[in-house]
Amino acid sequence: METAGAIVDDHPGYEFAMEMQTRPVYPSSYFVWGQRSWALPLVLHELAHMWFGDMVSVDLWRDIWLNEGFASYAQWLWAEYQGEATPQQILEATWDAIPADDPFWQIVVADPGAADMFSGAVYTRGAMTVQALRVEVGDAAFWQIVSAWLDRNAWSTGSTAEFMALAEEISGRQLDAFFQTWLFATEKPPAEAVLAEASGSRVVAAVPARAVRWAHRWLRSVEARTR
Ligand SMILES: [Zn+2]
Repeated sequence: METAGAIVDDHPGYEFAMEMQTRPVYPSSYFVWGQRSWALPLVLHELAHMWFGDMVSVDLWRDIWLNEGFASYAQWLWAEYQGEATPQQILEATWDAIPADDPFWQIVVADPGAADMFSGAVYTRGAMTVQALRVEVGDAAFWQIVSAWLDRNAWSTGSTAEFMALAEEISGRQLDAFFQTWLFATEKPPAEAVLAEASGSRVVAAVPARAVRWAHRWLRSVEARTR
């Protein structure tokens, strides 16, 4: 990809963004005066799709979390860059904000089915999976995995099984239980699953209120407005 741009359309009823390769399409309502900062994370989400979704496409639709989880995670990295919260804080705040009996946890992220393919769980639990993996394997291995994923699958497709195999290959770890917890289990992961190993204890209480607001805002808005 050598150039990039955007298309903003005012077609009536068009109210979500779409990651068209090199030219994401946005509804004009995203860019109302005074709301530019609101649109920015969603623009970032679509730009992340240039790699996660466009350059590397899903093998099957059930692998859609590989697009949406990583594009949503890019928003978490943006939040960190902006000084709002770290991805780990957002992971913990999101985990904390959604009760165990919420239907959110009943979606199989790696095989959500046609009806739930674009559910909030695919986006948000997908991003939670990415951050949890980063903690599980450590920063160095994590970024190697991300880089190798894009390199090896560029201009082709990738599946969840291939991603899991790559993560195990690069980290040298057996990750079956990890991925079962995050991508396949129809229940809320246990508290231990969201802990950063380095901290050794819950830091949810220390998460700024604004991080929790971010998490809630994403749960509401990303699902409704972003594909
Ligand atoms: Zn998306």
